[in-house]
Amino acid sequence: MEEIKGQEEKSERSLNFIEEIIEDDLRNNVNESRVHTRFPPEPNGYLHIGHAKSICLNFGLGKKYQGKTNLRFDDTNPVKEDVEYVDSIMEDVKWLGFDWEDRLYYASDYFEQLYEYAIILIKKGKAYVCDMSAEEISETRGTPSRPGKESPYRSRSVDENLELFSRMRAGEFPDGSKVLRAKIDMASPNMQMRDPVLYRILHATHHRTGDTWCIYPMYDFAHGQSDSIERITHSICTLEFEVHRPLYDWFIREIGIYAPRQIEFARLNLSYTVMSKRKLLELVQEKQVKGWDDPRMPTICGLRRRGYTPESIRNFADTIGVAKRDNVIDVSLLEFCIREDLNKKASRIMAVLNPVRVIIDNYPDGIVEEMEAINNPEDETKGKRHLPFSKEIFIERDDFMEDPPNKFFRLAPGREVRLKAAYIIRCERVVKDPGTGEITEIHCTYDPQTKSGMPDSNRKVKGTLHWVSAKHAVEAEIRLYDRLFSKENPDDAEEGKTYKDYLNPDSLKLITAKVEPSVRNAGISEKYQFERIGYFTVDYDSTPENLVFNRVVPLKASW
Ligand code: ATP
Ligand code: MG
Repeated sequence: MEEIKGQEEKSERSLNFIEEIIEDDLRNNVNESRVHTRFPPEPNGYLHIGHAKSICLNFGLGKKYQGKTNLRFDDTNPVKEDVEYVDSIMEDVKWLGFDWEDRLYYASDYFEQLYEYAIILIKKGKAYVCDMSAEEISETRGTPSRPGKESPYRSRSVDENLELFSRMRAGEFPDGSKVLRAKIDMASPNMQMRDPVLYRILHATHHRTGDTWCIYPMYDFAHGQSDSIERITHSICTLEFEVHRPLYDWFIREIGIYAPRQIEFARLNLSYTVMSKRKLLELVQEKQVKGWDDPRMPTICGLRRRGYTPESIRNFADTIGVAKRDNVIDVSLLEFCIREDLNKKASRIMAVLNPVRVIIDNYPDGIVEEMEAINNPEDETKGKRHLPFSKEIFIERDDFMEDPPNKFFRLAPGREVRLKAAYIIRCERVVKDPGTGEITEIHCTYDPQTKSGMPDSNRKVKGTLHWVSAKHAVEAEIRLYDRLFSKENPDDAEEGKTYKDYLNPDSLKLITAKVEPSVRNAGISEKYQFERIGYFTVDYDSTPENLVFNRVVPLKASW
């Protein structure tokens, strides 16, 4: 991890292969040296961290080359799409820090134009209406090593095709009874070129066009033509579309329109999670998680609720770069990026997650001292705050051992520790519950000369502990999130199992902690470093009466 460079150095990294293509095009004055990219989500689910990579890449290139980036909804499948998804996608892109300005488009805006393009192909004898069922079409498609069989409807005349296609549009035929297919080559070694379907009949209400249409273009027929209409210069997509590229180019060439260039890169795969929208939807619908924005989800809204910042995600996207071959990125790299960002930004506070009471026997009763604590040692401008200190405090149960090994530098009978921003204390004795043997009180003495400003304030002891004053501490619900799956690649399920068999049963633990009173009025989404523990954020459910914090990440990698 040491070689991960700071923000400034990153702009000097060598060009990735997409930037090389673009710079080559700029040098050769391709497309009048314009750079115009797009992010084309299908509004059939919430965006995930993989989409974030694509957003950062497309909008990042637009920015870097003083070009433009469109947001385009690829909304060609009315059955699975919804405005809820459209809204969430726009929110997520904005939150990540990108701006499509006035360039918000929908493939459905082009339905009429796409229909006209289909007519062009029919008139050229390059498309025909086929009456075979979906099963028959797939059965006659052949295999990569065996050519497909030509449809008996392939030789229909142009006039008959024009008439049938217009009657398909007019709603005269039931769903699935006819399709429009391209007439290319049933023996092509590329299966995508074996007379692919361009239009299907679907009597379904579209979230934008309502019931205007009952035929809908297939993804392949809509995508490239939409790129062309928007005069996209570099159409960047994931590797699985590489085999679609000849088809992408074929449509553009045969229709005779402006030709964008499709470039493929490797999709982001992340360990210990799943990224397919279908699977994420399943987790939500089956209530395996509490919703799309459950802080364990790899969705952008889940990461946001978890406490991730846009900067950390952009930095992550930049760090992983773009590859031409599929790979899996370790989720600990994402965790590294949020730690790095929150280390700079998050205020430190004291919170005791598993408290045990400490009584300082020689400290005066009824006195409260205001201790001064630094909010962020990485950022002086964050200033200082006051922390109440009194005779009874809480420390972590784990920070005490009755019979410790030599290397234990925390509290133990007869040993001294420093209380962060306060005094050095020494353990004198413990009180146990006679029934359970559990320690209920740790009795200590303090050295009054050891707080800041006193003669022995610099006296060294081996350990420093965080603490909260018992009387002043505020209780808070803490949601300790962990990885959603316990298997590195949940998609790679054993025989007879599915990814859901690898859900981590300990992905959420609820505890009640004692936190310092300064956070009583903490706002939703505020981020803190709980000293010595980790980074936490105020959850959406939090109120001043019932504080709720989510753990973003532990302070140190624990895996
Ligand atoms: P899923 O497979 O999860 O359903 P998708 O690719 O069908 O995702 P789209 O809405 O079509 O989802 O994706 C929008 C854009 O985001 C596409 O250009 C797609 O290539 C890109 N994208 C999707 N998943 C990833 C990923 N894991 N890494 C990088 N880019 C991705
Ligand atoms: Mg897709």
